[in-house]
Amino acid sequence: MDSAQHETVIIGAGVIGAALAYRLSTSGTPVTVIDRATPATGASGAGFSWVNAAHKTPSDYFRLNAKGVAAHHAWRAALPGASWFHPVGNIELTRRGETTAALEARSEELATAGYPVRRMAGAEARDAVPGLQIPDGAGVFHFQDEGWVDAPAMTHDLLHRAVQAGAALRTHDPVVGIERSANGRVAAVRLRSGGTVSGAEFVIAAGNGASALLSELGAPDPLTSGDGHPGPRTGPGAPHPTVGMVVETTAVADAPRPVVHAPGISFRPAPNGGLTLTDNPTAAQWSRADPRLWDVPALLMERAARLLPQLHGAHIAQVRVGERVLPVDGLSVAGRLPGAPNAYLVVTHSGVTLAPFLAELIADEIGGAERGELAGFRPDRFERR
Ligand SMILES: Cc1cc2nc3c(=O)[nH]c(=O)nc-3n(C[C@H](O)[C@H](O)[C@H](O)COP(=O)(O)OP(=O)(O)OC[C@H]3O[C@@H](n4cnc5c(N)ncnc54)[C@H](O)[C@@H]3O)c2cc1C
Repeated sequence: MDSAQHETVIIGAGVIGAALAYRLSTSGTPVTVIDRATPATGASGAGFSWVNAAHKTPSDYFRLNAKGVAAHHAWRAALPGASWFHPVGNIELTRRGETTAALEARSEELATAGYPVRRMAGAEARDAVPGLQIPDGAGVFHFQDEGWVDAPAMTHDLLHRAVQAGAALRTHDPVVGIERSANGRVAAVRLRSGGTVSGAEFVIAAGNGASALLSELGAPDPLTSGDGHPGPRTGPGAPHPTVGMVVETTAVADAPRPVVHAPGISFRPAPNGGLTLTDNPTAAQWSRADPRLWDVPALLMERAARLLPQLHGAHIAQVRVGERVLPVDGLSVAGRLPGAPNAYLVVTHSGVTLAPFLAELIADEIGGAERGELAGFRPDRFERR
């Protein structure tokens, strides 16, 4: 057995595991983070990384995400040199009268909840996004506090800060087994390399890899079946709701700074000076093995260029096919596992938005407090299904 008796063992070095490792280790808790691969190569390396809450329901999930947005602003201010969160705002164009009316109504609710949003004049939107073609009759809304994250940069920066604060990071070594004591508590995890890592608390922040670990623990799996194939359980949305595609373009002259959403296309700046494009429902039509998925990059380029003519000279620089970490009810899962009281599960979509705030909540809960913000998101809701 490893001689190091680390108190908290985090399985998974995506944005969530990294944020939690940072939060715990900088407040004095000994931490070991284990990943089967390189950090940020799961969902965290494949997403659109828009930091947002405006459209999320029900109300406790909206509030969790709104606090996620606020925590990004707070961490950006508190962490010297952290440059991965870009609070550039989000501009949303609606096409039809009824979507404009619905967004108008939602805006009023959001304003009442203290979430900044306003109608924007077309000329102002064109100032913010040079060249933007606004279809006749479109409504334009501005969500001022939203933005985007370079999620791999966030993951690596937070892990680096955690390591500097004393955390141990072990990569390329999957957890392949879990050892339990007679009272059901987890005593140690077994690594493929043959070692074991013991601890007092174990956090499963393994994204879609959580399913295998939960099966080992005999706990219900809340996740939508993976690999883009519909399984016995289904999640919300399109036929293959876990499948997502993100396209990065080559550098673009006059690249817009805000995140922009329009019917059929969303884009935001990419770290290479180009744009990152996506459209959730389009890619989620196809399983990852379906060749029709590869029609999507050209489609996204074409749709984006209709809104932003300067994209006509750009090319595709990179395409990422990702798999969402998607609980079957679409909501976050965070809490101790019934039957394994020192095992804490955290799996969620919108994990980029939520990582800093979830890290704060989970660090408090591992320390013995109970955070009411997580009351509606416990793993035991799947035991009752
Ligand atoms: C296409 C797409 C678009 C998205 N858009 C957005 C968005 O706009 N805004 C937003 O907020 N969120 C978005 N998301 C969601 C967000 O990216 C995820 O919720 C988030 O990255 C989840 O982070 P995580 O750390 O939980 O999981 P992951 O990033 O998947 O990390 C889990 C880690 O665990 C490791 N692991 C798994 N099993 C084991 C094991 N047995 N042993 C050791 N290590 C293991 C993996 O290697 C991986 O590194 C999007 C996701 C996708 C795919």
